[in-house]
Amino acid sequence: MTATDTNTDTERTDASTAKTTDALSAEATEVADATTPDASADAAPDGGTTDASDAADPEAVAAGTPPSDTSGRQSPAVAATGPGTDTLLQTDGLTKRFGGFTAIDDVDFDVEAGELRCLIGPNGAGKSTLLKLITGRHDATSGAIYYDGADITDRRPHERVDLGIGMKFQVPSVFDELTAYENMRLSVQRTHADADLDEAIRDALERIDLAERATTPAGELSHGQQGRLEIGMAAALEPDLLLDEPVAGLSVEERNEVADLVTELNGDGIAFIVIEHDIDFVANIADEVTVLHGGEVFREGSIEAIRDDDEVRRIYLGGE
Ligand code: ADP
Ligand code: MG
Repeated sequence: MTATDTNTDTERTDASTAKTTDALSAEATEVADATTPDASADAAPDGGTTDASDAADPEAVAAGTPPSDTSGRQSPAVAATGPGTDTLLQTDGLTKRFGGFTAIDDVDFDVEAGELRCLIGPNGAGKSTLLKLITGRHDATSGAIYYDGADITDRRPHERVDLGIGMKFQVPSVFDELTAYENMRLSVQRTHADADLDEAIRDALERIDLAERATTPAGELSHGQQGRLEIGMAAALEPDLLLDEPVAGLSVEERNEVADLVTELNGDGIAFIVIEHDIDFVANIADEVTVLHGGEVFREGSIEAIRDDDEVRRIYLGGE
């Protein structure tokens, strides 16, 4: 499948971000929806999708509808990531070109439900680009992305959020002038009714160990606390998969705090793809590591095997 994209070199406006901030500006939601060509899909009477090409509708599968196309075969999305597989996400020949430059080159990458995967590789390897393809901030040049039984290659970013793909940097950053409580409310109100809101916000702050700082403006929190707030806000949208690119400049202690939170949320069943820049730090959180290099998957394996791999050492030394 080829996705054509008129603004290949620019990041797509992240409609989900606008939605997240809709408490601040109702107009933001309208603008976001107006710029979404298939916004009418949201208004399908059965609450499902109107995308007729979606043979892999998980609800149809759950309802016993055979997940097959007209020829009686399973769709590629169901075969790769549907019920009966352990795979939550799979990319198939995923490619992203910026002009003549190939940033992601024919990548087959998959993540199991509930796993915690670290993505490493030297500067320019394609790590950020791969995450942006998965969230829909970039359109694929070619190849496909399957998620939980559906082909999401052409889905808008906010649709992917609704399907359960969370992104930490999808919340642009916390709003400095709002308190931790008010920031968290922006996320929690998307999944909770008004009656439950206060308790749910307090629970969510408790979960990230920020209950004591509820009334503190986010701008006055430490970097580590801000990092936890961002992850907590993404987790409050109840994703099955969370993508995390930790901000640079955290102290070792702050990074350990964030790592503990990622590990804890992963223990609750959320799968993670985490970009890590420090290979030694990866050992603290992940078992399984994917090494990107030059836009391709260079190695995949246990942290022990990767750390002892001379070729991996070589690309790190040569690439920085
Ligand atoms: P990493 O996160 O591993 O450091 P990136 O995914 O940010 O790598 O970038 C991979 C390659 O793609 C780099 O060479 C980078 O310069 C290029 N690249 C990334 N984004 C763009 C863009 N929007 N336009 C043009 N080139 C880009
Ligand atoms: Mg990057």
